[in-house]
Amino acid sequence: MNTHNHAFNEISVPLPREVDSEIAGDIEKESVFVSPFIDRIFVQDGKTARVVCKAGADLAEVEAKAKRFLEVMVKQVSGFEIKVFVDTKRKDTGPYFRGVNDELVKRGWMHDYGKGQVAYSGPVLKLAKLINDKAGELYASALGAKDAHFPAMIDADTLHKCGYFDSHPNAVTFVGNVVEDFDAIEEFRLANSCSEGALLPKQEHIHIDGMCLNPAACFPAYPTLTGQTFKEGQCFTWLGRVFRYESRNINGLDRLYEFNVRELVFVGDEDFVRDVRKKSLPIVEELASFIDIDCQVQTATDPFFATVSAAKKFWQAAQEVKNEIKIPALSNDGSQKLLACGSINLHGNFFGKRFGFTTVNGEPAQTGCVGLGIERWVLAAFTQHGFDESRWPEAVRNIIFR
Ligand code: ATP
Ligand code: ZN
Ligand code: MG
Repeated sequence: MNTHNHAFNEISVPLPREVDSEIAGDIEKESVFVSPFIDRIFVQDGKTARVVCKAGADLAEVEAKAKRFLEVMVKQVSGFEIKVFVDTKRKDTGPYFRGVNDELVKRGWMHDYGKGQVAYSGPVLKLAKLINDKAGELYASALGAKDAHFPAMIDADTLHKCGYFDSHPNAVTFVGNVVEDFDAIEEFRLANSCSEGALLPKQEHIHIDGMCLNPAACFPAYPTLTGQTFKEGQCFTWLGRVFRYESRNINGLDRLYEFNVRELVFVGDEDFVRDVRKKSLPIVEELASFIDIDCQVQTATDPFFATVSAAKKFWQAAQEVKNEIKIPALSNDGSQKLLACGSINLHGNFFGKRFGFTTVNGEPAQTGCVGLGIERWVLAAFTQHGFDESRWPEAVRNIIFR
């Protein structure tokens, strides 16, 4: 049944069932994690998977693996009713700007290192800071949020407690060190002292003892809450450095390996966390109006790893525990897409139970969080206003182009 096209090293595999564009998008995104021999999987007409293989692939083996991946991915339930809670419209009537990433590099405002990391300065930095500061001020004035600071590394036990390995095992980054061995260290030093490029230590000379780069802004906050009793609800806010191994999906400011998140965490009883979630909506609205962008907040689900995706997405959608801030922007091909620029999450008492913090009546406390992806907000704002300063709201342009 399956056609093998050796000339292009592609395999066509019929999907176990027809899927909509939402699931097709997830399949394409997660396909970079299927096999070292698969470059990517594309879905055609919702019915067929086009598996693009790398040179030297054993096609039978690759096909079997792709089929196992597709089998679990098509189990996803999609088409949940999307509820929209915020819908702001910009005043700027100019067209969306296509190719923001390239333009920012061309202007010298951004440097793309090529592996999902960027450096930025000038108007990009000023806008990033402005969005971060404005969000922090709104959280402080509307919610009495206290400032905090957390490390960029996190240990595996904490991530395990947060359930991260169960949901997103593909996105984790472990930190490796050279073993504490005089000879191994000297061998590494000598090899590099006269080499042209970096030579990494031998595999057996690297040890990974469980330090990871933090992959979700709120996680490092929870160990600090252990043992606490919350008489009344509390809000914390900070700028967190976040790392996700996105493999070949990295793409400019849109999908980075290393990015910044303005995080808000709220802890208390159920009424408190529901109330804060509600109060966060007008804050997002105010932020979007301040930089004058089209913006929506709507119900959403997380991109879980393939094997657990169907079950976890279903649970998330059914409980309506995740809302996403979606800001219209452009894909590389110029078509409009909704960029996920932040998420508003309710965790129930999951973290309260796992990390041992309670409300006054001794019950595990509930938590929630709001994470704003700063670089995506910057990308969306430049997409919607372009590079003609006069199209930006006065209060913003007076700061970022000054
Ligand atoms: P996506 O579905 O795009 O992979 P997500 O839903 O997993 O993102 P969250 O876990 O909700 O993202 O993270 C909070 C916010 O962090 C996102 O809304 C987004 O703005 C930002 N973000 C997530 N991943 C990246 C990334 N790779 N590069 C830049 N920003 C990101
Ligand atoms: Zn969070
Ligand atoms: Mg998402």
